[in-house]
Amino acid sequence: MEVLYCSTRGGQKDVTASQAVLQGLSHDGGLFVPQKFPVLDVSLKELSEMTYQQVAYEVMKLFLTDYTEEELKACIGSAYDSKFDTEEIVPIAKLGSTYHLELFHGKTIAFKDMALSILPYLMVTAARKNHCRSEIVILTATSGDTGKAALAGFADVPGTRIIVFYPKNGVSPIQERQMVTQKGANTAVIGIRGNFDDAQNGVKAMFGDKELEKELADANLQFSSANSINIGRLVPQIVYYVYAYAKLLGEGEIEDGEKINVTVPTGNFGNILAAFYAKSIGVPIDRLICASNENRVLYDFFDSGIYDKNREFILTSSPSMDILISSNLERLIYQIADFDSEKNASFMKELSETGRYEITSKMREALTAFYGNYASEAETAARIKEIYDRFDYIMDTHTAVASVVSEKFRKATGDDKKMILASTASPYKFTRSVMNAIDPAYESKGDFELVDELCRISGVEIPEAINEIRNAPVLHDRVCEKDQMKDTVRNILGLDK
Ligand SMILES: *Cc1c(COP(=O)(O)O)cnc(C)c1O
Repeated sequence: MEVLYCSTRGGQKDVTASQAVLQGLSHDGGLFVPQKFPVLDVSLKELSEMTYQQVAYEVMKLFLTDYTEEELKACIGSAYDSKFDTEEIVPIAKLGSTYHLELFHGKTIAFKDMALSILPYLMVTAARKNHCRSEIVILTATSGDTGKAALAGFADVPGTRIIVFYPKNGVSPIQERQMVTQKGANTAVIGIRGNFDDAQNGVKAMFGDKELEKELADANLQFSSANSINIGRLVPQIVYYVYAYAKLLGEGEIEDGEKINVTVPTGNFGNILAAFYAKSIGVPIDRLICASNENRVLYDFFDSGIYDKNREFILTSSPSMDILISSNLERLIYQIADFDSEKNASFMKELSETGRYEITSKMREALTAFYGNYASEAETAARIKEIYDRFDYIMDTHTAVASVVSEKFRKATGDDKKMILASTASPYKFTRSVMNAIDPAYESKGDFELVDELCRISGVEIPEAINEIRNAPVLHDRVCEKDQMKDTVRNILGLDK
């Protein structure tokens, strides 16, 4: 079955997968979604005997139907290789009846690597397939982890350039260091004086800027996106939910067809949407538990049917989830609006004009698979300590948010199905918050002293990603105001000459 894509706002349809990957965002500001959902054409039993790479092929071929088998397998082979520190690619840690899906064994030790190690290959292949002769400029807003993972993926990839904007005071010290030390002649990293939503809005505005598009075209350049609004980010994220289920089946942890629940620490709603897509293609997932930090806009949405971003933006210890505009939610809204692009577009218009919209009660009924809740900063820290004490296992702050919420879910519903919990970052990426949660006495220590101490108490080897930045020189120190993002991009690309 050929899968074609359309925009959630109705402006584009019958777009091939490779065109959607290349373009990133639709011309009308909407997101690309499959016009028809495929289903798995191999059994879970068969999948349970496959490697990660093989499962990746079985899932990705369903969505990226205009890529040939050879092309897809080449992309998968180049992405999921020794860049990952384990052959399994995604190990699973069992803590009671919760299975932590460790998505952080890639190059930048956060789950964004799962998709961003393959996106550059998907994009370069797409450019070739579509006879695209212009250089691709990846423009990305990051709350900390996407930026580094995208930089690592695209650094020195011929035919591409990458520009990353991050909130200057809104990422962890290690996250910032990872980005500003990035090598690669085609990379640029800029801090903005503003928060993640400002960065994301600025980037979205540039994507919709016709004048800028023309300037780029004249210079033989074209924008694309590495954010999770790109379908090329979303599809590789479906893979690990399929893999996790199959793996648990293979190891006899679950029965074939047994329903499980999934908890995902959520910001832009990309990762949890991928879990929902995994459910849609036939993985026996029952409930999807959406875990937020104190920026609980999604919790309130699931609770009331009202999405309202008019609230204080809180900087938390899980910065990659400090987001008030969850871009990927639009894909879900479109789906529960019965694929009515006009209806979806009117909600999005309301959101951009008033910062708020309310879905209908019929749409709310279509959300039964989801459960939302949030974790406070205190609950998150306490959970890190509790899990360390009970299991001798140290998790990062984002994963801890999910862990708190999965417990709240169990208590609130009495549902004790086995749980897959998306573990989205290595504790080494958020060392300070993690170590302070274990013992406040660590407060006075330096960032890298804490790294060594974390190694000592956890017995987990220090990842290469951390060792590499200890003494690396800062290569990017540019900072701009949030309303100067366009001028900055024009300057970097030499369009202002
Ligand atoms: C990006 C990120 C998230 C949130 O994922 P979304 O797809 O934006 O919902 C959670 N945890 C970590 C560590 C991240 O980097």
